[in-house]
Amino acid sequence: MKFATKLLHGTSCIDPVTGAASVPIYQASTFHQADLDRPVVYDYARSGNPTRHALEEAIAVLEGGERGFAFASGMAAISSVFMLFSAGDHVVVAEDVYGGTYRFLTNVLSRMGIAVSFVDTTSLEQVEAAIRPETKGIYLETPSNPTLKVTDIAAVCALAKQRGLLVIVDNTFMTPYYQRPLELGADVVIHSATKFIGGHSDVVAGLAVTKEAALGEQLYMIQNGMGAILGVQDSWLVLRGLKSLKARLDVSTQTAEKLARWLSTHPAVSRVYYTGLPEHDGHDLQNRQASGHGAVLSFDVGSRERAKALFDRVKLPIVAVSLGAVETILSYPAMMSHAAMPPAERKRRGITDGLIRLSAGLEDAVDLLQDLEQALDALGPAEQVADDKQAFSWA
Ligand SMILES: *Cc1c(COP(=O)(O)O)cnc(C)c1O
Repeated sequence: MKFATKLLHGTSCIDPVTGAASVPIYQASTFHQADLDRPVVYDYARSGNPTRHALEEAIAVLEGGERGFAFASGMAAISSVFMLFSAGDHVVVAEDVYGGTYRFLTNVLSRMGIAVSFVDTTSLEQVEAAIRPETKGIYLETPSNPTLKVTDIAAVCALAKQRGLLVIVDNTFMTPYYQRPLELGADVVIHSATKFIGGHSDVVAGLAVTKEAALGEQLYMIQNGMGAILGVQDSWLVLRGLKSLKARLDVSTQTAEKLARWLSTHPAVSRVYYTGLPEHDGHDLQNRQASGHGAVLSFDVGSRERAKALFDRVKLPIVAVSLGAVETILSYPAMMSHAAMPPAERKRRGITDGLIRLSAGLEDAVDLLQDLEQALDALGPAEQVADDKQAFSWA
């Protein structure tokens, strides 16, 4: 089955009792046990609910794994997956990991005696150098946020296999439509389903899939033990969003490609980050390990004042935290996703005060382009600002 068909028919999508074309919302916390001697599939809804289970099966099929799990948020999925590790363990983590993951690892997990090292995972040498005797896992996010650096998943997995390490990949930006890390050797895939999979800015949810059944059993114990499950209404919303994933991403990616190419020629923009641009460092690798470049790009307008002026002038995109929705979203990493990071550290990662992230939605690309054009034209060329900035820091 091709991916588009799998989205609709990969798992049983017809209710066996009524024939309903959409999985019913089983708004039930517990289930009658007619015969105490006969085991039941569902006993209590934290342990399992048919609506949530339908989503969990769907994501497992799409990622090509054995077991899927739905959590209350992307962070609930991520923190639950990290519970696979124990006190004394060490994990190598991609340095430009999602801000919430960074916060969880440095503020919460560190108190549990699980150590992490942040490294530039685009360099295999740096990954290898960070591995210690007590290292148990490698955690990747590719392309990364917001400068879209690409990590070679298969190469890191090969290294990890030699050392017996688990590889976990946050696949939120790509979704299983464009990238399937389990097929490249990873052990666990994680999603913030709040983004492309839900796709409509109306639900917060997380997913995880294990490649092997045994690891799935461990993660099930954690999901049931920690209890950060996705509710049934939200499970249904994610299932609903998932059906149109390919159709949405096809359009949004096309738009992102058009905008990236156009932005890289606009004088008010000093730099564009998009893996679909041939000049992007990760372009070839992305082409090898993924089937698309996705709907997220970033661009630099030179300064905070200019970024703010652009936000004030655009009419179509919403200015918000988040991405991967039907509406185009502009974010300002320096004050949103990466606000907690010290300015020097931000700058080192290319997250300048002029950097804007754009997640393309389903609006007409020409309308979006014209809207961005009227906003950018008012800023004037970017070089002037770069000179000013230099003069300022020199003074
Ligand atoms: C949003 C996001 C998360 C966190 O997910 P929530 O659903 O907000 O908890 C994790 N990773 C990435 C890449 C994200 O974009």
